[in-house]
Amino acid sequence: MTTVNAKKLHAAMQREIARFEAERPRSKELFERAQKRMPDGVPMLWMAKWPGPWPVYVEHAEGAHFRCVDGIDHVDLCLGDTGAMVGHVPSATKAALIEQLSHGATTMLPTEDAEIAASLLAERFGVPMWQFTLTATDANRHMIRYARQVTGKPKVLVIDYCYHGSVDETFATVDDSGNVVARRGNIGAPVPLDETTVVVPFNDIPALEKDFASGEIACALVEPAMTNIGIVLPDPGWHETLRELCTTHGAVLIIDETHTICAGPGGMTQRDGLQPDAVVIGKTIGGGIPAGAYGMTAELQKKVRDSIELEDIDVGGVGGTLAGNALSLAGIRATLGQVLTAEVYPAMIQRATEWTEGVQKVIDEFGMPWQVTQLGARSEYSFMPNAPRNGKEAADADDFPLQQYLHLHALNRGILLTPFHNMALMSPATTAEDVERHSVAFAEAVSELVG
Ligand code: PMP
Repeated sequence: MTTVNAKKLHAAMQREIARFEAERPRSKELFERAQKRMPDGVPMLWMAKWPGPWPVYVEHAEGAHFRCVDGIDHVDLCLGDTGAMVGHVPSATKAALIEQLSHGATTMLPTEDAEIAASLLAERFGVPMWQFTLTATDANRHMIRYARQVTGKPKVLVIDYCYHGSVDETFATVDDSGNVVARRGNIGAPVPLDETTVVVPFNDIPALEKDFASGEIACALVEPAMTNIGIVLPDPGWHETLRELCTTHGAVLIIDETHTICAGPGGMTQRDGLQPDAVVIGKTIGGGIPAGAYGMTAELQKKVRDSIELEDIDVGGVGGTLAGNALSLAGIRATLGQVLTAEVYPAMIQRATEWTEGVQKVIDEFGMPWQVTQLGARSEYSFMPNAPRNGKEAADADDFPLQQYLHLHALNRGILLTPFHNMALMSPATTAEDVERHSVAFAEAVSELVG
């Protein structure tokens, strides 16, 4: 259901497409060439979903900006969907990576940086024992494996409309009869989801209590606030209940801080004093190069380690030849040690507050039935009057054509929003002028739709 005049939306979208086509001939050329070698002309199929008749090809990214091959400067409020939350390759990270490259990239042996990176993560997230991967997806997969291994239980509890990367167990939802089924778009679902997964709506404590009672749950895998279907904040008491139920039923509580590290240097775990058994993180910790990690309490780590024979370690479904490579670890050491420090958060959060205020002003001015929610250095608007309390409410408010228009309008004014929802993320390099560019463009975009 659209909340705007459909005719105006259509006409405005046509104008934006024409402008995009006129201003981006070089991207078009590269796209046409690429179509002969890659499905939809992109290296990863989801890149075809960006708004506009063809993707924007990037020439140079630095700080909070990038320049496309047509020479247009963009304020990057997507920041690689958190992969570049620290800004595009900050100088300390770049120096550490170049230095490490001159000493080799990967040997399958540890470097001194491994312990330094693990200590930096331990200080932030409170859990002492760490392992490394290349992605947050793999970190989640590995923690799920370990949780099943040590509990002997089969199922993963996830939140309805969650996203934790391409992790098979998590692409589940509940149908009208209450059965766990594959989510729309689950490509070639490997096993029936009701064998692996239990799905609970965010903030629904009775549902949580009911599902734990089954005694089948190995772990709960949760984002501390939802960030992949709009921002959905936890109600008071939600996290305390989740912790208690995991303890009572012997399930491992895994908190995925990959996006919520926007809330503070130790994510919401540190900010809100959460007590997970395991923490997963990826994306930004390497300053833009592939790096992921998962940490465990000493007790959980001991159970995991005691359950595995040395002889079996390399073929048991937890692995990755390039995981923990020297380059990733140098990136983590520099990025967490020198760039994404506690000192940079107040300014990043201030930028997100300015962005939120800019959006709210437009919502008020034009009387749109929309809302905007901030979580630390990120913020997101959605097409519903009140902040969502769970993933389904947030998903029901989606309006794909309207979203595509707002994104394309922004792109044509040199602003990149996080794709597939209406989210903006601030880096230490993002300025008040960058934010203002969005506030001005957003007012103009909405003015085209009303009346
Ligand atoms: N966890 C969360 C909360 C995420 O949002 C994502 C990706 N958006 C992932 C894990 C997976 O990250 P990656 O695709 O880098 O493995």
